[in-house]
Amino acid sequence: MNIQKIVKHPSVRYIVAVLVVVFGIVLRIWPLGALELRIPWVTFYPMVMAASLYGGFGAGVLATGLSVLAVLVWSPTGLPFIDDPGDWLGTAVFSVNGALISTMSGAMHRARARTTKAKEMAETANKAKSVFLANMSHELRTPLNAIMGFSRLMRNSPDLTAEQLENLDIIFSSGDHLLNLINNVLDISKIEAGHMVIEESAINLASFLRETKSLMSEQAAKKSLSFALELSADLPPNITMDAVKLRQVLINLIGNAIKFTDSGSIFLRARVAKQESEQQVWIRFEVEDSGIGISSDDQNVIFSPFEQVVDSKPVETGTGLGLAISKQYIELLGGQIGLTSESGKGTLFYFELPVEVLPPSAEMFPELHHERIIGIEPGQQAYRLLIAEDKFENRLLLRKILEPLGFELREAVNGEEAVALCNEWHPHLIWMDIRMPVMNGLEATRRIKTSEEGAQTKIIALTAHALEDERQEILAAGCDDFIRKPYRDAEIFDALVKYLGVRYRYTDEPMPTAIAEEEELDAGKFEGVPVDLLKDLQKAVELLDEALCLKAAGMISDHNHELGVRLRQMVQDMQYKNILSVLDKFLGTGGRQ
Ligand code: ADP
Repeated sequence: MNIQKIVKHPSVRYIVAVLVVVFGIVLRIWPLGALELRIPWVTFYPMVMAASLYGGFGAGVLATGLSVLAVLVWSPTGLPFIDDPGDWLGTAVFSVNGALISTMSGAMHRARARTTKAKEMAETANKAKSVFLANMSHELRTPLNAIMGFSRLMRNSPDLTAEQLENLDIIFSSGDHLLNLINNVLDISKIEAGHMVIEESAINLASFLRETKSLMSEQAAKKSLSFALELSADLPPNITMDAVKLRQVLINLIGNAIKFTDSGSIFLRARVAKQESEQQVWIRFEVEDSGIGISSDDQNVIFSPFEQVVDSKPVETGTGLGLAISKQYIELLGGQIGLTSESGKGTLFYFELPVEVLPPSAEMFPELHHERIIGIEPGQQAYRLLIAEDKFENRLLLRKILEPLGFELREAVNGEEAVALCNEWHPHLIWMDIRMPVMNGLEATRRIKTSEEGAQTKIIALTAHALEDERQEILAAGCDDFIRKPYRDAEIFDALVKYLGVRYRYTDEPMPTAIAEEEELDAGKFEGVPVDLLKDLQKAVELLDEALCLKAAGMISDHNHELGVRLRQMVQDMQYKNILSVLDKFLGTGGRQ
């Protein structure tokens, strides 16, 4: 039995009270015995105090009673202690004081017990909340996986009308919005339950920030906001960072900046704030907008969960969790976040993070690639992939993603079938759903990985679960990795590269888009083009001189080929107004880099 349990056992307090009084009696032999003193209470007061502090009311009263008894019946000097009425009065006072001390200490014990119980109840409730949220998010993510996956698949179909594409985009972006909300609620509960862990990887900071910017450029362009990235020259190229959390914070801040700005510009900046040593630097990130701003009263509350500024634009949707999560993430990563803002003028959010600088040759976090996969490279073995999943629509989705690329596929509807098919067909890799009837994915994985034939088979769990404990459980069962539902196709493709070494064929052709023609040109694309050239183009557009415009576009193309081609096309389509408005926006900011 552990010592904690022994100390807390109810009867132990009485044994301790008896021992404490015995100790008091022993103490009295010397000095009281030696000095022939007749003050019996000198040693017993501290003993009663000690017994009652440790054991509460019962132990205190017991110690008081035993002390009185000892005084009455036992004298180390041989002389009686109770000699006159004064001694009786002393005994009475001692008894009353002993009872008072015991009562007070009993009350303290009860208060402490109540606090502990309340804390335990809160912890249990918190755990129950986390489990509830994990389950709820599982239930919501599973159908979302099918909704988003199939709308993505349909977008690939060549004969859709512009209207159908637009409708599909709405389905997809609504699903995406819902997923964000679920993820936010889940993240905050994970943080509160202490489940959040840091997962560091090596990144190239500049390309990481460029990618983050490009993820948000379209949103900014839709509101005709210019969006510029400003990186200081002293930024270390490669660093170690929890890239997923950093990206989430930046996307949240940039998303808010776009949401709460109607005109003007957004800046994303990064610079070295402090150089602690060659390997350790602090980097300051800033997201600035020229939007509605946040009043100083509101600045105090926006980092609390579920807080939204009351008079913020009613059309905007959100959970009020984004900034709370960002703050928690930044603190988890060892930094601080803050803001400066003026109502009506704009807002600047900043945070500083300590990062470890890596040598330039370090292996990097994979960058997002934008090319489209159209098949597997010829000359490779025939890859056999098994899909173990009980839901028909999720099996179909994976089949539709993988079959056209040239993979051999078989399906199992529960763990037992997966084990049987694995023995018979020897797949190279299994996509394993975790929750399945008859036999769940964890049990199936254990069986496959411990069998002779299955030990080499790679198993990737596909799960809508999201808590850290479950991740541990999945990896402990023997899965090589896991991918959260809803997944992006790229996650599926990347896992096949990582675990089977699959090589793909790519195409540069962009995905068909519903708004390609009217899409606004992103002013950020002008970065790096000499301002003089842009001014030439501006003049040519104002003169509506097509030849001059094409010439200017050609010269711009020497600095940024893609932009030059785009501008030439816009000139040919006579989109002069669009070109001019973007140019004005960019040149209006002083042609910043
Ligand atoms: P939400 O999901 O509602 O955007 P956040 O926690 O991200 O939640 O933001 C909380 C509130 O802070 C927003 O509703 C908005 O009122 C205010 N806010 C955040 N960023 C900005 C900004 N850049 N400009 C103006 N107001 C902002």
